[in-house]
Amino acid sequence: MRPVYRDEPCRTALNRVRKMSFKWSLNPYMGCVHRCTFCFVRAFELLADRPSDARYGTSIRVKTNIVEVLRRELARKSWKREQVVVGTATDPYQPAEGHYRLTRRAISALGEARTPIGIITRGPLIVRDVDVLAEASRHAKVGVTFSIPTLDPEIWRRTEPGTAPPRQRLRAIRALIDAGIDASVGMAPILPGLSDDPAKMADVVRAARDAGATSVWTNVLYLRPGTREHFLENLARDWPDLLPLYERLYDRRAYVAKETLEPVRRKVRELADQHGLADRRRRPVKPPPEPATEQLPLTAFLQAPGVPPA
Ligand code: SF4
Repeated sequence: MRPVYRDEPCRTALNRVRKMSFKWSLNPYMGCVHRCTFCFVRAFELLADRPSDARYGTSIRVKTNIVEVLRRELARKSWKREQVVVGTATDPYQPAEGHYRLTRRAISALGEARTPIGIITRGPLIVRDVDVLAEASRHAKVGVTFSIPTLDPEIWRRTEPGTAPPRQRLRAIRALIDAGIDASVGMAPILPGLSDDPAKMADVVRAARDAGATSVWTNVLYLRPGTREHFLENLARDWPDLLPLYERLYDRRAYVAKETLEPVRRKVRELADQHGLADRRRRPVKPPPEPATEQLPLTAFLQAPGVPPA
């Protein structure tokens, strides 16, 4: 189904975040065409009385005025230049960004305001913005986290129907690192019985290291109502044998018990140690170059279907 894009101007750009390691978030788009079966946002959609099932990701709200609103907020005397994380609720480099360029312009605004930036994405489209990211890095700390839970083609294809292949994300990491931008890998969410296989996790850590990632972290699937129904429905279709395992692990709980979580975290920590990725400071990125005079060729990164015309 082709997604529908709706202009939805916003009143505020920066959202206050509680109980997290950062205080502010920014999301130019609401809804995400990547439609990951495990997407935690489905839970929020259900709470907001919007579709969290297969219809999620078919209607994208675009905050068309977000950059103008952001600039006003950043100009306030009260702005303390605390870190802003872009892409906490939807992917800021989903295909719509190729057309609207809101994430790109927001990064420029944050950089000019000397505000530290974190970006979370699965979208190789980010390499288009290597120039503004490098420029922002000259004024404040910039860090990009690529979500790459697995390299397994079958798991990727069935659980992330709209994202670019993991190998494209790794190539994007290399491009960012080569431009002097800090890029790390978030192996999340790990799916019990699927991507928690030690050999599969080792493949990701090794590939992250080879791509130049500065660190790697992990987390296990979180299944709140809204996400739970959709994920389990897809699991029953694709891997029915695993249903009993999930019913046991997520029996009356949204998150797995420590006995399931800790071995995964420990394994990724060990692998990260083994491959020199455990400590960000051990793999410093080179300083950003002088202002970019040319853009990287995008065609090398954008083979994902459905990218709207720029
Ligand atoms: S890319 Fe992120 S926000 Fe988009 S559907 Fe997947 S998990 Fe959700």
